[in-house]
Amino acid sequence: MKLILLGAPGAGKGTQADILCKELDIPTISTGNILRAAIKNGTPTGMKAKAFMDEGKLVPDDVIIGIITERVAEEDCKNGYILDGVPRTIAQAEALEKAGIVFDDVVSIEISDEVIMERMSGRRVCEHCGASYHLVAVPPKQEGICDKCGGKLVQRRDDAPETVKARLEVYHKETEPLKAFYAQRGLLRSVENQPTVEETSQAILHVLGR
Ligand code: AMP
Repeated sequence: MKLILLGAPGAGKGTQADILCKELDIPTISTGNILRAAIKNGTPTGMKAKAFMDEGKLVPDDVIIGIITERVAEEDCKNGYILDGVPRTIAQAEALEKAGIVFDDVVSIEISDEVIMERMSGRRVCEHCGASYHLVAVPPKQEGICDKCGGKLVQRRDDAPETVKARLEVYHKETEPLKAFYAQRGLLRSVENQPTVEETSQAILHVLGR
């Protein structure tokens, strides 16, 4: 199964991708996580991406398409994958189609900007493996420590309120039009954010017919 998770920053794409990849036994590809790792490792891609990310802007499409075409060609992607946070623009969606990368379903997680602004202040990520937590909704077993790898949990630089506002603006302008793009192709499944992570996962599995 080849799946795209669409939704605003903070909609819970990363958290849902973590659950779905276990349920569906396919890997998640998160361009945000790949770019953060590249910045941490000081690679040329990371150096290119950092200034854009710090300001809440989108990284240029060619960088993103390069990352994805390489990643989906890897062995663990042969039975499918979940894209988290990509495509983010119509140009990226068209470039993926052109590269022969097609999808079975596109799930859009629907949530208001107000709820996102509240939610982002509690988000923490593992600086080592990129796993996502929330102080209230998805707390780690041990405070400040990643359950999966023991890495340190930190707040993302781009989760500062002003940057979240900028990212939401970018989402509405650049990414939201993808809903119509995939609706035209008969692939769009919209899911309302639910009160709990588990209920949202159930709603997603339901629209996927699982
Ligand atoms: P995310 O972790 O998905 O919220 O992404 C964090 C930041 O990484 C975004 O605000 C962008 O600066 C950059 N980024 C991640 N994925 C993409 C993408 N598909 N296109 C452009 N920029 C991206």
